[in-house]
Amino acid sequence: MRITDVELFPLKLPMKQHFTISNGRVGDASGGAPHVYVRITADNGAFGWGEARPSHRWSYETLETVSSTIKDYLRPLLLGMEATDLRSIHAAMNREIRAGLGSGQPIAKAAIDTALHDLIGNAFGMPLAQMWHGSPAAGIKLSYLISTASPEEAAAKAAYARENGYEGVDVKIGLDPQQDIAILEAVKAAAPDLFFRVDANQAYNLPQAVALAKQMERIGVDVFEQPLPANNLHGHAELRKKTTIPIALDESIWTPGDVMQAIRLEACDTIVVKLTKMGGLSGAKLCGEIAREAGFELLGGGLTESTLGLTASAHLFRYLGIKRPVDLNGPIFLADDPVEAGPVITEGDVELPQGAGIGCTISMDKIEKFRV
Ligand SMILES: [Mg+2]
Repeated sequence: MRITDVELFPLKLPMKQHFTISNGRVGDASGGAPHVYVRITADNGAFGWGEARPSHRWSYETLETVSSTIKDYLRPLLLGMEATDLRSIHAAMNREIRAGLGSGQPIAKAAIDTALHDLIGNAFGMPLAQMWHGSPAAGIKLSYLISTASPEEAAAKAAYARENGYEGVDVKIGLDPQQDIAILEAVKAAAPDLFFRVDANQAYNLPQAVALAKQMERIGVDVFEQPLPANNLHGHAELRKKTTIPIALDESIWTPGDVMQAIRLEACDTIVVKLTKMGGLSGAKLCGEIAREAGFELLGGGLTESTLGLTASAHLFRYLGIKRPVDLNGPIFLADDPVEAGPVITEGDVELPQGAGIGCTISMDKIEKFRV
């Protein structure tokens, strides 16, 4: 089953609201959000879809670099390759776009990897869970994302999450560091029984993070995610010695090698598994399995992918046995996207599709409508 085409669809998807993290805005309600859809076709007519959701405020990849990387570097080498041979395909992609200190355009490679998983599943009539020899797809729980510099707004969102069946909140801090403690207190007061995940997106240095963690112990936060810059594993290990709050690493963990380094340095209590930063389902599955076997209670997240990326991620999180509500927050922000049939998403619950591959049907009308 040889690859005969790799089609690229750069999109701007409409957003219901802005989305801001500590380093700035990652999606704008007026300009839309950058997503790149990829369709890969094989010589027997089978095809599969994948998605990249780059944000230059989160990492260095953009709509433009994902598009040019796939079009000019990855597509030419993929044409003619055996579609089921993901090991050789990743080796070829990694030779073509070499790793630096990071893994080398993982978000672009993730769109290819995800599309090939979908293609293989479609060609053999197998859902992803079956390809991985896992139990059949069922549901997963979503967390509710709170990203604001206003304690009043944070409290209102936490109350909304609680009233609408969410089992956890994911609170972004560092947007306005003066407000961090007030925001955490407001969220805890409004939703005292929800799983309380706090994500700083690398906003702090070690003394600041230690001081914040002490306050979090008092308030009752469940996990403190990526307080320090991504390359500061030693600092995260120091922080762990000074607080009882579990430390999660997200931007520090891109590859299986990163997971191993974090384990060796005792730099975290868990990692955030994310399909796109880990180069797709292949890399994210391996990272998750290593961390799971190391005894970590895994967290799941995304980069506000649309329904296609959300569904692929949810299949993997289900397979990995992630119990905590996951941060797949595309539906909170996106007003529309190209998936016309797939999972059933109702507030904090995702009911996964049972069909072959990822199990999403893509509307070409919407692809054309949102194409840039
Ligand atoms: Mg994070």
